[in-house]
Amino acid sequence: MLAAEFLRGKENLAPLSNEFTIGSMNRREFTQFCAGMAATMGLSQAVGLRMAEAGATQARPPVIWLHGQECTGCTESLLRAQHPTLETLILDLISLEYHETLSVGAGHQAEAHKQKIMQENKGKYILVTEGGTPTKDNGIYCKVGGKTHVEHVREAAEGAAAIIAIGSCASWGGIQSADPNPTGARPTQDIVPEKLVINIPGCPPNPYNFISTVLYLLTFKKPPDLDEKNRPKFAYGRLIHENCERRPHFDAGRFALEFGDLGHRQGWCLYKIGCKGPETYANCPAIGFGDVGFGSWPVGTGHPCFGCTEKETAFHKPIHSLATVKTLTPPTAFPTVEGAKGWPADPAAVAIVAGIGGALIGAGAVAASRMRGTPADEDDASHAKS
Ligand code: SF4
Repeated sequence: MLAAEFLRGKENLAPLSNEFTIGSMNRREFTQFCAGMAATMGLSQAVGLRMAEAGATQARPPVIWLHGQECTGCTESLLRAQHPTLETLILDLISLEYHETLSVGAGHQAEAHKQKIMQENKGKYILVTEGGTPTKDNGIYCKVGGKTHVEHVREAAEGAAAIIAIGSCASWGGIQSADPNPTGARPTQDIVPEKLVINIPGCPPNPYNFISTVLYLLTFKKPPDLDEKNRPKFAYGRLIHENCERRPHFDAGRFALEFGDLGHRQGWCLYKIGCKGPETYANCPAIGFGDVGFGSWPVGTGHPCFGCTEKETAFHKPIHSLATVKTLTPPTAFPTVEGAKGWPADPAAVAIVAGIGGALIGAGAVAASRMRGTPADEDDASHAKS
């Protein structure tokens, strides 16, 4: 539950001055970034402006970031964010007070600083948990500073204004919770059932889904709309299968049957080699990863989606098992299968492609797939409709 102190935000936010800078961004760039984040969340440009004003004019909220059982991939993913860079995020938008990978201090010094920040900012700080929490044998399988991760999470959650579980391990238990789950790994929500935990699953999660959620909390003093698994709807409201650039191949019956075969090399649908996109809700195809351009996500690079944003899928269903297809009806608008590679993954552009532009792009893709016709050689034909 968000604490009362955190809910009392500035009601009348001051407009940004022309001299304003935040990190490496000037006023214009920061406003554009926030407009892009708002568009990604399905919100208006006016909301983007409010987010920019909130991010620039309010006191930076302290953030306590705990690591449990995990590979630090969520932090690594965040390190690669460019809009804004991690420095801007942790130095100008928030005040990252404790993070076992990024903090300069270590040992007793770091633990003492964490205690001080939690006491001085009771009800005002954001708690981020990364990693699963082992509960078996009194949680002894993950300890920091002499305390179990269970104790750290409960202690920090007590005075937190908001709690975010980043990544599939913190959201669902992750790889260490796979059968037989030898350490009794559990999601953060199970450790503090009395609190609301916002889940940002993904292995790793997209950093922009995290940054957008933080900006929303800063601006509106409440979480964005959440689904029944406490995931922000703006990021986890649609099936990957509905936005995938390979979807026209699925509907046309063109499938890769094994890695490296002709269908795989041609960029056909990966359903038959285990893609879990048809049962997985996430915005990966629209946002991509690493700011390196269109197609920079697992399916875009030729690997089946393994369903990391779904509690029951990743680490629980075999990678090569077939997904449950939740929607057989082709979407009314297709993403392109032959889009130009290398255009920048600008959040605003991404949002436009994901939403408004879908109909136009889709119409083009349908036309393109119809014009392409039947595969010419025998190898092609053996894959089609198989
Ligand atoms: Fe894309 Fe996977 Fe759906 Fe095929 S099954 S269209 S590769 S999400």
